[in-house]
Amino acid sequence: MKNLIISLLLTLSFITFQSHALWYQHTFDTMGTRAHLEFFLEEDSQFSNQSNLIITSIVEEMSRLDKAMSPYIESSELSLLNRQAGLREVVVSEELFSLLITADKISQMSDGAFDITYASIGYQYDYRNNIRPKQAIIDKALPAINYRSIQLNVKNSTVKFDNSAIKIDLGGIAKGYAIKRCIDILRAAGIKHALMSAGGDTALLGDRNGRDWLVGIKHPRTEQKNAVHIPLKDEAISTSGDYERYFIEDGTRYHHIINPKTGDSARKVVSVSVIGKDATVVDALSTTAFVKGLEEGMALINSLPGYEAMIIDNEQRLHFSIGLQQ
Ligand code: ADP
Ligand code: MG
Repeated sequence: MKNLIISLLLTLSFITFQSHALWYQHTFDTMGTRAHLEFFLEEDSQFSNQSNLIITSIVEEMSRLDKAMSPYIESSELSLLNRQAGLREVVVSEELFSLLITADKISQMSDGAFDITYASIGYQYDYRNNIRPKQAIIDKALPAINYRSIQLNVKNSTVKFDNSAIKIDLGGIAKGYAIKRCIDILRAAGIKHALMSAGGDTALLGDRNGRDWLVGIKHPRTEQKNAVHIPLKDEAISTSGDYERYFIEDGTRYHHIINPKTGDSARKVVSVSVIGKDATVVDALSTTAFVKGLEEGMALINSLPGYEAMIIDNEQRLHFSIGLQQ
């Protein structure tokens, strides 16, 4: 009897030792930024190795999307479009096509504040080397910024640009799409609690095991400091700021969010965060509201059910959309 109890106790302790639930984390560089993954796994062991498999599949997914959508990779689908769509109809993947449709919808909805053809001028900025296009060059290139010049043929998934001056860039939407894909992968793997971020874009699966996640919004002018923490679960949040890629010349800040109407950096506000269920849309909307500025940007977000925003103006005052004002 005594032996039986001892062996029972041993078995029980073995089981509890084996089925430990744990948090896993992985930080890596991809899509020109820092990505971070956190997830909770009910059970893992060196035999099933599930945590490593999950981490590998997320890293590979981000890399796959970078290879398809990066303007810096010559063989990417995006680079192919920029080389050829001005000359002929180009067949693209369903995935890229549907992302172009989403971008087009946001352009229409924002009256062109969000416009992936900003790139014809955007590509002439080099923030690392303090280079910006001269006004004469901007004036010449400005007509090539117009989302209406992208013809999307739904029937055969082809894309055609009105002319060869038109270039596109997905920097304002691709990271949101990528983290959304990662959350889909995590959900399909049975994960219930996860966070996936890339640069200023974060998507959450569930809560942090009974508590909300606390997502920090960077202070726009003090590095390594957060302006505010927002409690969230099962949602995505994207922040667009003028402090990520920029240089200052004669007191003027030149940064990576471009007003498509002027070809110059947008300067009405310094930071916009948008919250909502769809990480792709949230990413595009933060860039959009940044270009539109406080009044118009906030009005746009308040008009969209299910989306909220926090805007930091040029005097570093915080403004909240109606749903966040409790
Ligand atoms: P980040 O890339 O730092 O997360 P955003 O989500 O705000 O910040 O995206 C900024 C990026 O969006 C720029 O680096 C550029 O690639 C692209 N972009 C800039 N201006 C526009 C615009 N008016 N419409 C669409 N995309 C833009
Ligand atoms: Mg964005």
